[in-house]
Amino acid sequence: MASAPKSVTIRTYQVGFGDCFLVSFSYGPKSEKHILVDFGSTGFPKRVPKSRMMDIAHDIKKRTNGKLHAVVATHRHRDHISGFATAKGKGTGDVIRSLKPALVVQPWTEDPKLGPKATGPAGKDRVRKLGAGTLKQIAALGLMHEVAQQTLAARNLPRDVRREVQFLGESNIQNRSAVDNLAMMAKNSYVFCGSKSGLEKVLPGVKVSVLGPPTLKQTGTIKKQRSSDPDEFWQFQASVARLAASADGEIPMLFPRHVKSRGPAFPVNARWLVYHARMTRGEQLLQIVRSLDQEMNNTSVILLFQIGKKKLLFPGDAQIENWQFALQQKKYRSLLSSVNLYKVGHHGSRNATPKSLWKLFKNKSERKTSNRLLSLMSTMEGKHGDVHSHTEVPRETLVHELQRNSDLFTTQQLQGKQFFHDTVVTF
Ligand SMILES: [Zn+2]
Repeated sequence: MASAPKSVTIRTYQVGFGDCFLVSFSYGPKSEKHILVDFGSTGFPKRVPKSRMMDIAHDIKKRTNGKLHAVVATHRHRDHISGFATAKGKGTGDVIRSLKPALVVQPWTEDPKLGPKATGPAGKDRVRKLGAGTLKQIAALGLMHEVAQQTLAARNLPRDVRREVQFLGESNIQNRSAVDNLAMMAKNSYVFCGSKSGLEKVLPGVKVSVLGPPTLKQTGTIKKQRSSDPDEFWQFQASVARLAASADGEIPMLFPRHVKSRGPAFPVNARWLVYHARMTRGEQLLQIVRSLDQEMNNTSVILLFQIGKKKLLFPGDAQIENWQFALQQKKYRSLLSSVNLYKVGHHGSRNATPKSLWKLFKNKSERKTSNRLLSLMSTMEGKHGDVHSHTEVPRETLVHELQRNSDLFTTQQLQGKQFFHDTVVTF
């Protein structure tokens, strides 16, 4: 086998709203190493057959010849991991497991040794390395699933608020089967900015850098530098941690039963009041689920593959808070400046391609050059946000910029029976 890959083929699957990329490194005829980056969906466009997820699982099996070398699950959202769920040997996750990956890469926040169901001593050294508050942070992430579950049960919300609450709630509810499968199917690597990924052992001749997520210790250094910048993200974390602490092992009822109403016939004059009361409650609820959604996105693993001079960037759904630590460091900024392929963060949403990152990419070009930046976007219109509030996914201005300055492929181009697209990068 050659000591370094000669080309890499990225297969982008049409998973509706979600991510699924099969990255195949070719070392010569019949010599390939396959890495699966995410496999999840929270919804498909109309007319997509129900068998789509299983069709993809079988295609991965066929394309890899029955052997997957590693899996990367960037973060715990359903639209990134639902495909790993098992069903008594008949689920898509069972198919992936049968491909016997040697390694599963996940963020440090997934390490069961740090969780409430710790399988061993957490290891004071590890906690010290990750930063104070690590165990609370893990507990808070766990609590968020309960919050998401309860938001889904919330009733009498105004229609447009309900739509977003449901969308965010759905992606944040726990996917126990997929989480367990990822923990069991192979050796695990729980990574953070600057840590080893373990993928180099699997991929000879490929350098892999982990740019995110930062540990709490790393984030602490940013917080000190940005102490005047009000940071909603961390305020929320603190309040969830407080909730977790006060709950004493019990899940607090954020939306207790007595606030539900069964739609009584209110007198006309009272309807205005009822509507506004619901709107206020809906808005508060939205704020909470939006924050928890962002918090989970910010646990995304950010990976940069380097083969010779070519660089491929897979940032999951990382948002600015996750990116910040890497972006402050010269060595990472210099690596990022020469990226050749960019997996567009968070399905093209407005908060996941920081402008400071986009500015760094020097292979952007309005002309079709031989080295023009390639960008891959997995997304679905009309599922999330709205144009009116500039929160639509994918964000129009970002898509326009991607189209103008890179060779953009989006899964929206995959229709009918076509459910994947191959992008080849040669070295
Ligand atoms: Zn996502």
